[in-house]
Amino acid sequence: MIVVMKPSATEEELQRVLERVDVLGLEAHLSPGESHTIIGLVGETGRISPNAFEVMPGVERVVRVAEPFKLANREFHPQNTVIQVGHVTIGGEKIVVMAGPCSVESRSQLLETAHAVKEAGAHILRGGAFKPRSSPYSFQGLGEEGLKYLAEAREIYGMPVITEVMAPEEVDLVASYADILQIGARNMQNYRLLQAVGKVERPVFLKRGLSGTIQELLMSAEYVMANGNPNVMLVERGIRTYETYTRNTFDINAIPALKQLSHLPVIGDPSHGTGKWRLVGPVARAAIAAGADGLMIEVHPRPAEAFSDGAQSLKPKRFQALMDDLRALAAALGRSL
Ligand code: PEP
Ligand code: MN
Repeated sequence: MIVVMKPSATEEELQRVLERVDVLGLEAHLSPGESHTIIGLVGETGRISPNAFEVMPGVERVVRVAEPFKLANREFHPQNTVIQVGHVTIGGEKIVVMAGPCSVESRSQLLETAHAVKEAGAHILRGGAFKPRSSPYSFQGLGEEGLKYLAEAREIYGMPVITEVMAPEEVDLVASYADILQIGARNMQNYRLLQAVGKVERPVFLKRGLSGTIQELLMSAEYVMANGNPNVMLVERGIRTYETYTRNTFDINAIPALKQLSHLPVIGDPSHGTGKWRLVGPVARAAIAAGADGLMIEVHPRPAEAFSDGAQSLKPKRFQALMDDLRALAAALGRSL
C-alpha cells in the first residue's frame, strides 16, 4: 500500500501519517518527490483499509500495490535509485561498464586485464575468485588469494571491483575486499545468501536465475532490500530456453520491463547472455538501446587459454572497439559512457 501526500501537505501532517503507520505495526519507506511525498507501507497491509489513511489531513490518495514486491517497486519509489560506488555512479545518466576476466587466474593475468579494460574506458573491474562451476572438477577459483589480487588492481588502477560471493559465511570476507557483491545466477533464489548480503553495506549485483522469471528476480531483490540493503542492481544475463546454438537466450524484454516495474538500476550481461564472443557486441548495443544502465562484459587477454568462459570473452582490442561503438550509441540516446 502506498500513501501519496498532497503537494501542500505540511511536515506535521506527514508526521501524523507516520505515527499511524507505526501504531498499525507497519513499516514506512519515505520517498520525497518534487511535488508529492510518497510513503510506502510494508507489512501486513491486507488487513488495513485504505480509509485509515484517506481521511487524514494532507493525504491525497491511497493505492494498493498489487505486486508482491514492494521496496523494489517503482510505485513505492518513482525516482530511479542511484548507487554510488567510489567515484562511479550507477543508475544515473551515465552508462557504466564493468569488465574483466570471468575468473581471476593469477596476479599477472588480472593486472594485465585490468590495465587493458581501464585503458578502454571501463569503470569497474570484474573477476571471479569464488567460481560456481557446473563440474566439481573444473577450476573453482583462487578464493581469498584472488580477492587480494582484485584489491591490488583497485589500488593500481583506481577502479572499484566486483566479485561473486557464493555462501552466507563468506559474505564478510568477500565484502572486506570487494566494492560490489555479485550474486550469481545459480544463487538467485538462495534466500539465506540474499538475507546475508542484505545485512552488509555493499551494493549487490543480482543476476537473474537460469530459469528465473522477471517477478522472481524482483522478489529476490526484495529479500536483499527487506534485510536493510537498498542498493541492488538487477542483471539480465540470459535464461534457459529450447535454443542451444547460444549458451543462454538474452531476454531483451526484461530490460524495459524491469525499468518499468522497478526503480533499481538494470544491467545487461551479454557475455553470459550469449556465450559467444561474436555476439557480445551486438547484444551489448541492444541492451543499451533497450534502456540498460550498464553492462558487464568478460575480457581476457588470451581467451583460448582462459580457465573459464573463454568462448564468450573479448580480447582487449575488441573490447576497446566495442567501447568506442557504445560511446557513439550512448550519445545518440542522450546518455554518456
Ligand atoms: C560470472 O559472472 O562469471 C558468472 C558465473 O555468471 P552467472 O552467475 O550469470 O552464470
Ligand atoms: Mn563467467
